[in-house]
Amino acid sequence: MKPGYDERLQTQLRSVFGYDRFRPDQLPIMNHVLEGNDCLVIMPTGGGKSMCYQLPALISEGLTLVISPLIALMADQVSNLRGYNVEANYINSSLSSAEKQTVFRNLENGKIRLLYISPEKAVMPRFIQYIKQKKIDLLAIDEAHCISIWGNDFRPVYAQLTQLMRELPRTPVMALTATADKATQQDICQKLDMKNPRVFLSSFERPNIHLQVRPAQGRLQQINAFLKQHKNEAGIIYCLSRKSTEEIAEKLRATGYRAAYYHAELESGRRKKVQEAFQKDELQIVCATIAFGMGIDKSNIRWVIHYNLPKNIESYYQEIGRSGRDGSPAEALLFYNFQDINIFRKFIDESESGPDFKAVQHQKLDRIWEFTQATNCRTNLILNYFGEYREKPCMHCDICTHPPKGFDGSQIVKHAIAACKESDETINLGMLVDILRASGRKDIFTQGLNDLRSYGAGREISRIDWIHFVTQMINQGLLMIDYTQHSNLRLTSLSDDILLDKRKIKLTKPLNYKTKQPELKPLTKNETFDVHFMSLLKDWRKNQAVKEKLPAYVIFNDRVLQQIVADRPTTLMDLINISGIGDYKLEKYGQSILRIVQDFINQQEIIKNVKGGSHLESLAMLRQGLSPEQIAKQRGIKRDRVYDHLTELYIKGEDINLHQFISEPMLHEVIEAWRLAKKSFDPALITEYIQTPYPIYKIQVALAIIKKTRQK
Ligand code: ADP
Ligand code: ZN
Repeated sequence: MKPGYDERLQTQLRSVFGYDRFRPDQLPIMNHVLEGNDCLVIMPTGGGKSMCYQLPALISEGLTLVISPLIALMADQVSNLRGYNVEANYINSSLSSAEKQTVFRNLENGKIRLLYISPEKAVMPRFIQYIKQKKIDLLAIDEAHCISIWGNDFRPVYAQLTQLMRELPRTPVMALTATADKATQQDICQKLDMKNPRVFLSSFERPNIHLQVRPAQGRLQQINAFLKQHKNEAGIIYCLSRKSTEEIAEKLRATGYRAAYYHAELESGRRKKVQEAFQKDELQIVCATIAFGMGIDKSNIRWVIHYNLPKNIESYYQEIGRSGRDGSPAEALLFYNFQDINIFRKFIDESESGPDFKAVQHQKLDRIWEFTQATNCRTNLILNYFGEYREKPCMHCDICTHPPKGFDGSQIVKHAIAACKESDETINLGMLVDILRASGRKDIFTQGLNDLRSYGAGREISRIDWIHFVTQMINQGLLMIDYTQHSNLRLTSLSDDILLDKRKIKLTKPLNYKTKQPELKPLTKNETFDVHFMSLLKDWRKNQAVKEKLPAYVIFNDRVLQQIVADRPTTLMDLINISGIGDYKLEKYGQSILRIVQDFINQQEIIKNVKGGSHLESLAMLRQGLSPEQIAKQRGIKRDRVYDHLTELYIKGEDINLHQFISEPMLHEVIEAWRLAKKSFDPALITEYIQTPYPIYKIQVALAIIKKTRQK
């Protein structure tokens, strides 16, 4: 073992990336490849995989070649590295030939530390001939599960990578993935021809993501309620069909959210736009099919909703894993229903794959369904699925935080089974519930089902609860679904025992989902200042990003900004202590940040002294997404006062979009009146020159805009 790697790696971690500590496994992995060995790295998304090859690249003489399947992801990684002043380039089909030439020139000069290439490029004989003459110290293969048909995203081109490996027999290989069960792990090592590979399996747990699963009834209302608790927080809603992405995005837009849709049929220019707008925080919500995802390297996604059931646990975990990459809390909410299962079964059966593959897919579907119905810790179920056996409750899933209460459900179960039996097993779940609840549904009467003894036998139980109970019965084997016959419910060998009262059955009550909007707690004065401070920093970051043509998080991610808000650093020494600020970023942005902190502190003093922060409190609430009317209500002050606050701050130079409160024609009317009134800023006087009876606060808003324009 060569000494010295640890120290050099540690120094680079600190000075380039601004981090003090390695995450578990990072250092052993780096040492392993630096000593010339192969390995497979399995870490959850956001776990710090990329760092495992990026840091060795910095202390190696030769080049690190990174194979990465997605163009967008490559571009993000490269701009991220450049943000740290690390020489990185990529080659893929999106580059013009002039751009390609520049990359090759850089390669010749030995300037590049990391070269990202697409697998398509990596298997081209001409490229292989070229690159094998260079000194390559490490070959990193990202999303390595794509090589295996047991994995989740099999890509045939990955299978050809062996050609490249054969030509680079002495180069250590690091395969990386966030998703691989046992079979896939073995397959990766074998297909990549790895020599004595060591498998580094980090815990898959994502402790900052809270998992929640709910039945799909009333999804849209539930989502609306959810979004009210997640004001201005970026998130993704995954849907099964293109149509639902479009419909949901439209509904959300109509409610005032910055939402867009994304699916594979969308023309590529549009797709790119959506993706970029999301990266830059211009869009809050993307409603997407799974086509949206692998290329998203955005660290501040705060929530992921599955509008439909994901097709397996791998997809689910990968998709929710896109949230909370910055380590701050995130929320994953999944809606389940039986229809989705049927759709997936059909997909699988009608696909062209062989019977083995189909069988695996069906089993995977069963597992995700079991996950939705879990009565024990959901995180553990997932960890066990990936071979990481654990029992300790995670305390960040709904089961752990709100354990479902069990009760004797024998009577309920009996009603349901009796109804199935009386109908000769010709009804599906929806119909069963309608019969038990005696709903007025037409086909109940046309089919004479209202004559069953069970008709109306369970009307005191709500529809949602019924669905929950019958689902539990299916999972307990008391009923089964016949997918070949319209998903009708069939009795099982256990059913008779129930009818004969021979068995007691335990059921659990569904959780109580509040669809009512919780009142936002009024902020304390200090929190108000923090919100305001954060928005100043975000504004600065946005401007900086535009100037440098980079996504905002490349400048600093949310976590860094949050620490600045918490620490209020006033010297460069303070700044360097913040995790995520390395030497290069310190030099580049340090002074600007300190200036913002200083201005903020000064301004805070003034406002504290003069007005007790009341103005800023209104502004902070506006920036949280509340309307002036809501602010007034919550603060218990008059609406006009809120407008006073906002217009005053606006004139002082705060970045507030006052135009949102009045229409263009109205502004013109006020300008006209203002001229007639000899440019007076007295709202009362202005009203005398206007025919339309506008409320006085609107006139004030218009006057503020006029005043500000004149200042400029
Ligand atoms: P992955 O490739 O596994 O999805 P990344 O390598 O992109 O994850 O890392 C996720 C985030 O964690 C990035 O913002 C990265 O800078 C950060 N990170 C990685 N290693 C460390 C570390 N040792 N200390 C603090 N942050 C880290
Ligand atoms: Zn749990």
